[in-house]
Amino acid sequence: MIRPAFVSTTSRSSRSRLVTFALISLALSFFAGEARAQSRTIVLDPGHGGHDRGGVPRQRVGEKGLTLDVAQRLRRVLQENGYRVIMTRNSDVFVSLGQRVAIANSHPNATFVSVHFNSAPRVGANGIETYYYRRDSSSLAANIHRNVVAGAPTENRGIRRRGYYVLRRTRIPSVLVECGFLTNPEEARYALSSSYRQKLAEEIARGIRGVRAPVGKPLARDSATSPDVLPQPFNGPDFVRATPRSRQSARSSKSSRKKKSSTTRRTRSSSRKSSSGG
Ligand SMILES: [Zn+2]
Repeated sequence: MIRPAFVSTTSRSSRSRLVTFALISLALSFFAGEARAQSRTIVLDPGHGGHDRGGVPRQRVGEKGLTLDVAQRLRRVLQENGYRVIMTRNSDVFVSLGQRVAIANSHPNATFVSVHFNSAPRVGANGIETYYYRRDSSSLAANIHRNVVAGAPTENRGIRRRGYYVLRRTRIPSVLVECGFLTNPEEARYALSSSYRQKLAEEIARGIRGVRAPVGKPLARDSATSPDVLPQPFNGPDFVRATPRSRQSARSSKSSRKKKSSTTRRTRSSSRKSSSGG
């Protein structure tokens, strides 16, 4: 008589233990997933350094010092929010793109964020661009981009998929943000102010933390027709989709000599950027 009661108690308690075990496993797998989705280790990559000043030749406002300053400010903000931060450089030294990628890949649970300022032969070119290559990096790119754009007094040039070396060769989620054009006098003036660089750092940090950006700015009108952009998925109003390069070059070969030479100039400037990583 006791026996059946005992058996039934055991089966009840083992059932409840099973349920508890299942709930704990579920919770653990949920938190593991969260940890994967939101890495707490960030590899920060200030663009250029040492003999590599960044930007275009004879550019008056240098890029390498500003990228380092924004990255150092960003490191402080991230650390205050509990992140572990690794820098690919922390002074004015040259670090090759291969070394930057190796540093990133030696932290398999990290997220890689490269900080740059833009430049163009056209003085009027302005705005914020954010790049990604890996499919798992598009939402991070969007978060960072929308936060930076919301706070920047400039154009939204869109989120673009592009095979920059540091984005293509990293085996972890990776994003490259171009924080405005130093060849544009107004944006250069902003970039030279420490309070603006602090704002940039705080906005990039908000993007990394996944904070929802305030109401977005519409995409600048000429962004979608930029010849520098590769074809990419169009999964949001900020994602720039462009005509495939092959079709563009086929079209340009039919066009006039004048048009052809201007395309060559643009291609040359864009391949320079690809090799330097933006
Ligand atoms: Zn750069």
